[in-house]
Order: sequence, then structure tokens, then C-alpha cells
Amino acid sequence: MKPPSPDMQQDTCNSPTESGALTVTDARDRILSTIQALTQTERIPLKESLGRILGENLCAPFDVPPWDNSAMDGYAVRSQDLPGAERRRLTVVGTAMAGLPFNGEVLAGQCVRIMTGAMIPHGCDTVIMQEQAIREGNLISIGEGHCGGQHVRRAGGDLAAGQSVLNAGRRIRPADLGVLASMGIAQLTVTRRPRIAYFSTGDELRALDQALDAGAIYDSNRYALYGMLRQTGVEAVELDIVRDKRDALQLALTQAAADADAVITTGGVSVGDADFVRDVLAELGEIHFWKVGVKPGRPFAFGRIGRAWFFGLPGNPVSTMVSYYQFVQPALRRLMGEDAAPPLQFKVTCVTALNKSPGRMEFQRGILATNAAGETVVRSSGGQASNILSSMSEANCFIVLPAEWSDVPAGTLVEVQPFPGL
Ligand code: AMP
Ligand code: MG
Repeated sequence: MKPPSPDMQQDTCNSPTESGALTVTDARDRILSTIQALTQTERIPLKESLGRILGENLCAPFDVPPWDNSAMDGYAVRSQDLPGAERRRLTVVGTAMAGLPFNGEVLAGQCVRIMTGAMIPHGCDTVIMQEQAIREGNLISIGEGHCGGQHVRRAGGDLAAGQSVLNAGRRIRPADLGVLASMGIAQLTVTRRPRIAYFSTGDELRALDQALDAGAIYDSNRYALYGMLRQTGVEAVELDIVRDKRDALQLALTQAAADADAVITTGGVSVGDADFVRDVLAELGEIHFWKVGVKPGRPFAFGRIGRAWFFGLPGNPVSTMVSYYQFVQPALRRLMGEDAAPPLQFKVTCVTALNKSPGRMEFQRGILATNAAGETVVRSSGGQASNILSSMSEANCFIVLPAEWSDVPAGTLVEVQPFPGL
């Protein structure tokens, strides 16, 4: 066994809640303080950057919009010509369409028919809405109540030239694509997508094209993990199910680690007779097994095999998912160089009673919805055992219950983490 690196030497921990268990926050902090972002970047076309992590700081190369333009269909006028109490007539000397500017100079007493998005003609600084002007041949008549500069979108009003717009670490969202396009950015630098190899372990597991013999179950973790990895935005490399045999596990881990930035396994991480992950990893790399004060998902392994990070998740399907969201996803986001905010978490009333024993922080599955009074409330999505994946599928949030809490009566204010923000 290789000696552990200095930053991985503390296996013991101080938890106020369960002896020998790390708190969720401690476990996450230890992982995040160990992992560093990959440094490689690539230049890609704008569209392909959706969901990728920006690898450069971007400033606006010019004003957006590039020139003053109309926010309304109507007439571009000079503010000096706006009338007081008396109505006033102005002569229409031309038309400005979006993309087809009026090129002349607008003089006193004149105006230009203008459409939304058209450049404000020289001499004009104000737009009268079409509905507020009466057209009479080549004249319009306007009344009082207008102010100079109205209905004009100023050059640089969205982004001023030189202004910092998006910074490295930003996960590119649909609105960002639009913002980048408005600045004429067709190619950009993003961080390299990490390669994450993953496989399930267990003699009982079958692939979907196999029959279920007595005692067998389908390998559902591989699919849930695939979904979560895809949403995190990494390159997910799926490997075959590995049986509960030392040699098979050793080979699979060695091969997976040789060609990946991180390896994720599910199952075999506890202390059962067929749980070999611990032993095999002790030989292969620097690995720490933690008892985390979390339910579901207490056993958890984190470490390194060669140059790959390793995450060993418990096999129960909901434990796998909770461990992924709470520990692995933040780690992968760090690896990708994402400047990720902590997951959105807020308080709402829980309208169902929840069972809980003090000792571990619980991530129960809940459904956030709006009640008849228009308030957002949460209810349990059903069975909370760590194998009940259907209630995870029903849920749209985690209900996060502090370690020291016991049973929760209906009507209690609880913290929730909506899945879309995870
Ligand atoms: P383990 O962590 O290997 O002790 O597994 C705990 C429980 O999760 C057992 O009931 C396993 O059958 C189940 N399990 C483990 N891996 C998977 C998987 N990939 N898909 C579905 N269930 C699993
Ligand atoms: Mg197992």
C-alpha cells in the first residue's frame, strides 16, 4: 500500500452527531479542498458551449446595442419640438426601418417614421408611439405629455464596450449564448470536459438484456449515474458490471483509472462479506473510507488511484443518488473549473409528518408544490428507505433535515433543495 498523501491522512473525524462519522459539510469540504481544477482548455464554436464551463474572462468588444435605436413603432422626433399645451404638427421626411437607417439629417419641425429596432436618425433623440400621433398625409400631430429621450434604447444600454460580461468558471446557459452572440463571439474557450469512468459492482446485478434469475436485480445505478453525469456535463464512460471478486474488481479499477480523470463505483463499499472495494483500493491507491453522518448513504470512499480521483458510492439506489449530488457532483464541478454556487436551499412548510431519528443529516425525498393559498409547500414523496427509487423519481426536491432532529410534525418549516438547482 502506498503511503497516503498529507491531505488525505485524517480518516478520523469530529462529529457532534454520530461517533466516527463525518458531517456532510466536513466530507464535502475535505473533497473540495483536495481536488483542483483541470487546466486544459479548448476553443469551440458558440453553440457547442452550452453547458460547458467558460475558460476565459470575456469583456464586451463594443457597445450593445451598438447605436441608439427605437423601442417602439412610431415617429422619431427632436425633443426641442415636443409641444406644450398646444398640439403640434411635424413633417414626416422619411422612414427608418430595423436594418434600414434613415440617412439624412432631421431638422426643426421634422420627424421620421420609425420601427422598433431602427437606428435613431441624426438630429432625433425621442420617439413618439404610433398610437399617440395622428397621421395626416405627410404630417403628424402630437399632443403634450411626452418627455425627451423617451422610447429610445441607448447605445451600450445592455453592455458597455469594455465591460466585463462573463467570467471563467461560468457554466454557459441559454441566455449566455444569446449574450455572447450579441457581442459577435463565434468561438470561445471552455475547460476540458473531464472523463469519468463508472461501473456497478455486485453479483446480483444484471444488464437490461439479461434475464432475471432468482436473487438477481437489474443494475439501475448505472442508468441513474449516467443521467446525473450527463447533467453535470462530463464525458461519462460506462464500464461493465463487476462481480464481487477481488481480482475482477482490481482489474476493473486499474483499467478504469488508467484512462479517466475520475472513477466512480457503486456498491461493495460497506463491511459485508462481499464488499471488496475497501481491500482492493487499499492496495491500489490512496483511499479513505468515511462514515458520513448522512441518510441515506453512510459509507463513502474518496481517494485517488494513480492520476484518477476515486469515489466509491454505496449500492442502494437512493444512497447512490444522494451521495452523488451531495459529494461527487460538487467535486466534478470543481474538476471542470466551474465556479459553482452552493445548491439553492430555502425554507418551506412541510405539510406531511416525517419520520426521523436523531444522529444523521437526512435527505428525504419531497414534492414542492403550490397550495390553494398560493404558497409553496413541500410534502413527502413516499417511502424513504434507501432502496425506494420510485419515491426519488416522484420527488422534485430533497427535504434536508439536520442531524439532531427527530420526528417532524406536519406544519414544520423545513429546508428544501429543489432538484433543478442541483
Ligand atoms: P451494497 O452497497 O453492495 O452492499 O449494496 C446495497 C444494496 O444496493 C443491495 O441491496 C444491492 O443489491 C443494491 N444495489 C447495489 N448495486 C446496485 C445497482 N447497481 N443497481 C441496483 N441496486 C443495487
Ligand atoms: Mg454489493
